[in-house]
Amino acid sequence: MTANLLDYDLDGLAAFCGQLGEKRFRATQLFRWIHQKGIADFAQMTDLAKSLRDKLAGSAHVAGLKVLSRHDSTDGTIKWLFDVGAGDVIETVFIPETDRGTLCISSQAGCAVGCRFCSTGHQGFSRNLTTGEIISQLWFAEHFLRQHLGRDERVISNVVMMGMGEPLQNYSQLLPALRVMLDDHGYGLSRRRVTVSTSGVVPMIDRLAADCPVALAVSLHAPEDGLRDNLVPLNKKYPIAELLEACTRYQSSAPRDFITFEYCMLDGVNDQPGHARQLVALVQGHAAHGLSCKFNLIPFNPFPASGLKRSDMPQVAAFAKILMDAGIVTTVRKTRGDDIDAACGQLAGDVQDRTGVDQRMAAQRQGMLGGIKVVVAKGMGT
Ligand code: SAH
Ligand code: SF4
Repeated sequence: MTANLLDYDLDGLAAFCGQLGEKRFRATQLFRWIHQKGIADFAQMTDLAKSLRDKLAGSAHVAGLKVLSRHDSTDGTIKWLFDVGAGDVIETVFIPETDRGTLCISSQAGCAVGCRFCSTGHQGFSRNLTTGEIISQLWFAEHFLRQHLGRDERVISNVVMMGMGEPLQNYSQLLPALRVMLDDHGYGLSRRRVTVSTSGVVPMIDRLAADCPVALAVSLHAPEDGLRDNLVPLNKKYPIAELLEACTRYQSSAPRDFITFEYCMLDGVNDQPGHARQLVALVQGHAAHGLSCKFNLIPFNPFPASGLKRSDMPQVAAFAKILMDAGIVTTVRKTRGDDIDAACGQLAGDVQDRTGVDQRMAAQRQGMLGGIKVVVAKGMGT
């Protein structure tokens, strides 16, 4: 097996080229061919010496992911399904807006965290993606879109690690991929425009701050530990107070001066005015120690196995108002790509549950919802 050069950041590629007896500037040229021009065939890399191209042909290759399908939404959102082998499928979503193009990237096939409201969580964990598989999503999408849209310049300006998987539970493979995104010889994305979203892997938040500070989004979803334990099981290991302390520490190296808290609005579960008031108290308590944050309320995207329902818009608006009246910047996420099941938490919703997580969750659901109304959502967009 020859090396797949998509697995390397620039330092890794320089080390690989070093083994071939080549200087670092050759690695830089090669890196630019691959990431900036989207070229996989060494023969086309015309400013590399023929001898180097021959060496590369014998020891390396550039292989992206196998595209299973592409779905185009009426709102311009595009979703790809990639085959990563052994029956595992991952998804990548491009979301165009007037002033930017955002790519939502997956970090794992499945996810071990098992959040109640997330279809990836219901699927269970299959495996970590490699650096090459993570960066291939950007490599493929960027160069596909340039061709598709007939553009010479960059199309993707923002990356969010909000696809399938918990990026901070695949840290060793994530880190080189982030470096390729940020590298001026790679995609040259600004640190402020690359966002890692996490359900709260506290020690890895500190590692990210030290190794590669990018924008941080934290999936909070509940104002107190009892409810969060149930919605985001990782909370039992890293409870809210520890998580918010990690967020506060992160800010000293973060490229943005606030942390974004994501909060999935679940009807009758975490969307009551009392929950909003608890959040205000929580955040204000930590603000005294230096935490600065904003909230992004995500209307829940239902899928049948969740047994949960989206809060209605007046409920979301009332919740947002309580936060905003307390001076907390709050936005409500627009749902994009609904018609192609590309919205948050809908990714690979049709991939079967291979680990029995759904049954375990159904058994626990009664405990979580207590006496609260349970509505089984039928289909999307309800
Ligand atoms: N594992 C990471 C990143 C992937 S999930 C994390 O949990 O942060 C990206 C975002 O989508 C998270 O904020 C998550 O809570 C949210 N999400 C998951 N399922 C959802 C659903 N069904 N509806 C709305 N948002 C959902
Ligand atoms: Fe995993 Fe994030 Fe889904 Fe939770 S919300 S199961 S952490 S992908």
